[in-house]
Amino acid sequence: MLSWRYKNKINNVNMQKTEYTKKDFLWTKWTSKDIEKIVPKLIKEKKEIYEKIKKIPNEKRTFKNTIYALASSDDNISHFIYKIYLLLNVSPNKKIRESAQKAIDFFEKEMVDILHDKKIYEAVKAYKKQKEKLNTEDAKLLKDISLSYKRMGFDLPEKKQKELKEKQKKLAKFETQFSKNTNDCKDQIRVSKKELLGLEDSYIKGLKKKNGKYVVGLQYPELIPFMQMAKNSKKRKELADKSAQKGGIKNLKLAKEILKLREDIADILGYETYADYKIEPKMAKKKEKVFSFIESLLPKLKNLAKKDIAKIEKLKREDLKDKKAKIKYYDIAYYANKLKEKEYGFDVNKLKEYFPFKKVKEGVFEVYAKLFSIEFEKLENYPLWHKDVELYKIKDKKQNTIAYFVLDMYPREGKYGHAAVFEIVDGHQKDFSENTPFLPSVVSMVANIPKPKKNNPSLMSHYEIETFFHEFGHIMHQCLCQSKYSAQLSFKTAWDFVEAPSQMLENWVWNKKILKILSGHYKSGAKIPDELAEALISSKKHFSGYDAARQLSLALFDMELHIKKTQKKKNYPLDEKELTVLWKKTMEKWLPIKISSKNLQPAAFSHIFGGGYSAGYYGYMWSKVYASDMFLRFKKEGILNKKTGGDYKKYILQKGASREELKLVESFLGRKANNKAFLKELGL
Ligand SMILES: [Zn+2]
Repeated sequence: MLSWRYKNKINNVNMQKTEYTKKDFLWTKWTSKDIEKIVPKLIKEKKEIYEKIKKIPNEKRTFKNTIYALASSDDNISHFIYKIYLLLNVSPNKKIRESAQKAIDFFEKEMVDILHDKKIYEAVKAYKKQKEKLNTEDAKLLKDISLSYKRMGFDLPEKKQKELKEKQKKLAKFETQFSKNTNDCKDQIRVSKKELLGLEDSYIKGLKKKNGKYVVGLQYPELIPFMQMAKNSKKRKELADKSAQKGGIKNLKLAKEILKLREDIADILGYETYADYKIEPKMAKKKEKVFSFIESLLPKLKNLAKKDIAKIEKLKREDLKDKKAKIKYYDIAYYANKLKEKEYGFDVNKLKEYFPFKKVKEGVFEVYAKLFSIEFEKLENYPLWHKDVELYKIKDKKQNTIAYFVLDMYPREGKYGHAAVFEIVDGHQKDFSENTPFLPSVVSMVANIPKPKKNNPSLMSHYEIETFFHEFGHIMHQCLCQSKYSAQLSFKTAWDFVEAPSQMLENWVWNKKILKILSGHYKSGAKIPDELAEALISSKKHFSGYDAARQLSLALFDMELHIKKTQKKKNYPLDEKELTVLWKKTMEKWLPIKISSKNLQPAAFSHIFGGGYSAGYYGYMWSKVYASDMFLRFKKEGILNKKTGGDYKKYILQKGASREELKLVESFLGRKANNKAFLKELGL
């Protein structure tokens, strides 16, 4: 194992980084038996660390032996859990995926009891009494740990705490069940070859056939192209109605229970509503701020959405030669797609020919290397989980190791179906004392672009390129971070900020200079022609008013669900009927479209009822405010400007979650942040 001193001039941080060898990737070959053995060991390890911390006499407590010891108690454990979790999502072996799922379930269940240890909380309180003077990072770590303990209910009397724990366990069970019900939904429509008019051959070839008819299901890769391209409006309606009922009554019943449990939990913890509880650790901090954010924008966005709908209504009238035709909910994707072709006049399939994956990847590497003064090196013959998977090392200009990442790009049976970046190793300083070596981060991008075949390279749509660029932004955010503590790495930034750096980098794929770097025709190698690049760029605002209005309407629905108690509703929580009524009311108030009469739509909203984004769906638009504001500097100073890229690396990427997010943004901007750029981008 090699290691050396890594001196970063910008930050004056001495970072000596360990280098990984092939041995460090042998976990990719874990068998079911290996996985089964791991979790009990991890649980034992965690218990031992906690015991050690509890035993320290209060007068001998220090930041290192109490706060740092707590924060780093997961370092080793999480590295095993991340790997098992990744294998659950990518292993080509079904047996391994199953044992990984079992191991994760067991681990999560056991950890609830270990983490809810009042004596640990008392240790933190005892340390706090010493009022030790701390630097910024250490003070933030202490603040974050204290807040998370308060939120776990440690200040409550024992009986209340027990009640809370029971409710939390029950809530987690219901949320998982809710997501499972939507994922498992096998609803579908059957169509004839004629009813597939408008769809590409490659799409049709991918569909299953039953009794001579084609089957179109509700999963995105089948649903979205059908809604965008199928000429047959009756079949579009049939599919949209099925989609509006995904999850069904059983999920609406679960949703009611979930909402009730969430408000009970907030109640026990002393918060006014569940929204107050959820938003407290985020950048927004207060629900009132979120409401004023949404409510100040929605009326303006509604006007933009009306204009967007009027445009496609005109198109529908021309198309059907019917002056009275109205846009229906099942027409939106179809005519929006038609309008795009008509207004910007480029053929999406021709565009794809300029973007074979190999070329795009080289281009993405070139752009990021320039921007952040780094290099990428492909590592061959390392053990990995599949032959299509690639491992890279990130180095600085002096060839010092910074971090590692894996690309797993093509679909496989049983693999995670979307695009995301998974953690494998959270980089951090190995020990508390100054000048100890750092462990480099390792992450993996998991995506699903078409696999190359003979004479047919993997050609990427512009949307797929944007997604690739976005996810690569997450890799950069995590891998270039220099936080000393794993608890302050980039992925630990507040949930309503964590998307901002990647959202900002999406702007690069809407720039001609960058499109030239990313392109190379799969036959001739030619760069994308100017006119095509310009047409593509001008299509950026296409339908953006409607899309933004829809996102924010969903965010409002989510927020309203989680403050219901304060609205003194007689029959709180909402039952199945009231949930769909609130959905209809919110959507039809802010979007100029009547929704499906078959609407059970809250039943499919896993983002909020499945956990994660509850009272947090607003975060996607909220973080865009900061993404747009930060991008202004690149817009002015140049999209490949090394100085600007260097500042961005120094103030945002390298700092991770070691400072308040707003402070990071403002130190990069050199001024207060504002929403002007965001509004301008929306056309307001
Ligand atoms: Zn993202």
